Amino acid sequence: MEIVFATANPHKLEEVREICGDCGIDFILPNEGFNPIENGESFEENSLIKAQEAYRVSKKYVLADDSGLCVNALDGAPGLYSARYAGSQDEKIKRLLNELELANDRSAKFVCCMTLLNDEGEKIFETTGICKGKIIKERHGVNGFGYDPVFVPDGCSKTMAELSPDEKNQISHRANALKNILNFIKTIS
Ligand code: IMP
Repeated sequence: MEIVFATANPHKLEEVREICGDCGIDFILPNEGFNPIENGESFEENSLIKAQEAYRVSKKYVLADDSGLCVNALDGAPGLYSARYAGSQDEKIKRLLNELELANDRSAKFVCCMTLLNDEGEKIFETTGICKGKIIKERHGVNGFGYDPVFVPDGCSKTMAELSPDEKNQISHRANALKNILNFIKTIS
């Protein structure tokens, strides 16, 4: 079975392929022209916007995700704006660490909402995966992407960027959401 994964982020596509392993699903990128306007007010809305845009250009089964980092001391920020919190990824982490400079509570969570459309463009499943942890004061590790170098998952002594791809894929928000999607697909195929 072929499913279009609605992203322009090659790291995410790679993670989804690794999490899925040999589950029999071939994840491919959307056709040319994929340009979602992420102006939703929730992860769910943005995930649906991406899914519908990927369907518009590809007309196949589509899986989309919208994800971000929600920090408790910042009232859930950067949240929906995780990708747009500052210019480069380096600047995004710098801004986060600055904003948390005086915070005692450094707890946070990664959230990933996934939406599945069928080959007629209808939403057939939606689910949310979470990975709780905390933001540390300095970057560690080079794996993963985004805020991984400053996020230590609960129960871990390393940052997400110090974990191997396999280790991240056991516990990540994206893996948790994708497990639910794969279970749902088993019920319809
Ligand atoms: P999206 O592509 O609109 O879902 O934006 C997600 C943004 O949230 C990314 O650009 C990252 O900054 C952040 N993010 C989402 N998932 C992860 C992750 O697994 N590790 C680190 N940062 C992430």
